[in-house]
Amino acid sequence: MAVARAKCHPRSRFVSDLHAAQLSPLQRTANLSDDELLRLWHKTREVLLRWRDRLQAEAAGGLPEHATAFRPEMAVHGKFGQPCPVCAAPVQRIVYADNECNYCARCQTGGRLLSDRALAQLLKDSWPKYLD
Ligand SMILES: [Zn+2]
Repeated sequence: MAVARAKCHPRSRFVSDLHAAQLSPLQRTANLSDDELLRLWHKTREVLLRWRDRLQAEAAGGLPEHATAFRPEMAVHGKFGQPCPVCAAPVQRIVYADNECNYCARCQTGGRLLSDRALAQLLKDSWPKYLD
């Protein structure tokens, strides 16, 4: 099942699915309830079909002019600091070496800010735990 591989990874298309399913990007699929797994499965299918239709329409039978993982229609991917399209809270990020993973704290983690290792070490006790 595709949801078994869902995880937060900078190159993963699952980031949009996790936002649509309102699941934390750090949530392990082994820890999801049956309802959460079902929601993830339905949202993954919905997001993938929407993107398939969108990209097929744009290509119009040809090949795309250029490929990019960052598109304005994406909910949170590559949109650090911009408003979430669902709740308008600023999109957050977790930085890994040269990449980052984006999420909405209000939609996906109940307002809890996930630790960005580099910034958390720099800010130590000043690292905010929640969005508000
Ligand atoms: Zn949101």
